[in-house]
Amino acid sequence: MILDCAIVGGGPAGLTAGLYTTRGGLENVTMYEKGLPGGQITQSSEIENYPGVTGEITGMDLMAPWPQQCQQFGLKHEMVEVKRVSKDGDIFKIHRADGNIDEAHSVVIGTGSSPRRAGFRGEEEFFGRGVSTCATCDGFFYKGKEVAVIGGGDTALEEALYLAKICSKVYLVHRRDAFRAAPNTVARVKKTENIELVLNSVPDEVYGDTMGVNGIKVKNSDGEIRDIVVPGVFTFVGNNVNNQTLIQEDGTFLCEMNELGQVMVDINMKTSIDGLFATGDMRVSAPKQVISAAGDGAVAALQAIAYVDEKLNG
Ligand code: FAD
Ligand code: NAP
Repeated sequence: MILDCAIVGGGPAGLTAGLYTTRGGLENVTMYEKGLPGGQITQSSEIENYPGVTGEITGMDLMAPWPQQCQQFGLKHEMVEVKRVSKDGDIFKIHRADGNIDEAHSVVIGTGSSPRRAGFRGEEEFFGRGVSTCATCDGFFYKGKEVAVIGGGDTALEEALYLAKICSKVYLVHRRDAFRAAPNTVARVKKTENIELVLNSVPDEVYGDTMGVNGIKVKNSDGEIRDIVVPGVFTFVGNNVNNQTLIQEDGTFLCEMNELGQVMVDINMKTSIDGLFATGDMRVSAPKQVISAAGDGAVAALQAIAYVDEKLNG
């Protein structure tokens, strides 16, 4: 049997694609998710910016009903890792980690991205409890308080500027005295009164208690330790796009990517390959939010329905 649509990844993007493809009339749709469906938001202890959802809610709570909603319209879930997506003629091949190969007329991929860890003590222990990689998501929790930002690239500096509007003070900790970020962004940071630059310094340890983070110790190039007492630490030390499934046997990508490894898509989530749609955190210019990933999934699903209809029924 050839699937009408294969969905790779079961985060907000993949699950929404699953909802819209099945409810929109595609008969055979399978979502491949290597773990429990829900995606990376399930690691978050609190989400406040999903429209219509009020009160204290964890990422796990938010995502819990999504798979059930899709399954009632017929979405099948295979709990298996996809190793590779390839295309043979006009049929996609889904190479599964268990060795089987499934076939599909269309593919919606939404395998997300993973913020890199900086690697200091306490980073994992306090991740989601004071250590964050998302200022849009968690900045508001530190309204009027002091926070530390780690990194010297465009993301770190832009997020430091964003946090400086919400927080009383931002300590920008960077391991060198020169920034990788664009010069005008560096200039804006330097002009912002409530951002203090802590240069030639690396995080040594984030410490805290059962309630969360109490501070971060940073070590400068002379080996001196400085204790910065903050309840929030934001790390922006680069990002890995989960694009491995698009790498072909010869090492090339199935579709057009940019230099950051993000999938190039148009406004309809179409990639450079007919019938292949990319969604959520892995696509170019992704806002990296649940709402936008879900929106991408809906757009891609509507396009996949139209593509399959045109292909099978002319
Ligand atoms: P993901 O959620 O990353 O889902 C991708 C899925 O694909 C995963 O479940 C993964 O297991 C699966 N997968 C990957 N590779 C394969 C493979 N080869 N085979 C099978 N399955 C695969 N956003 C907000 O809007 N508000 C917030 O407050 C917020 N807080 C956050 C807090 C934390 C701690 C984190 C980590 C993120 C937060 N985000 C928040 C961001 C949000 O979680 C992401 O933008 C969103 O989940 C992206 O959705 P996605 O579907 O593109 O990818
Ligand atoms: P990045 O450019 O790779 O910067 C990562 C930063 O983290 C660097 O300053 C690096 O220090 C530091 N770092 C890395 N590992 C570390 C560690 N273990 N401990 C402490 N510091 C560490 O990543 P990014 O800022 O996410 O940007 C990624 C790409 O997206 C870039 O090409 C960027 O230009 C682009 N981007 C563009 C915009 C924009 O145009 N508006 C916005 C965001 C991102 P070093 O500098 O010493 O290596």
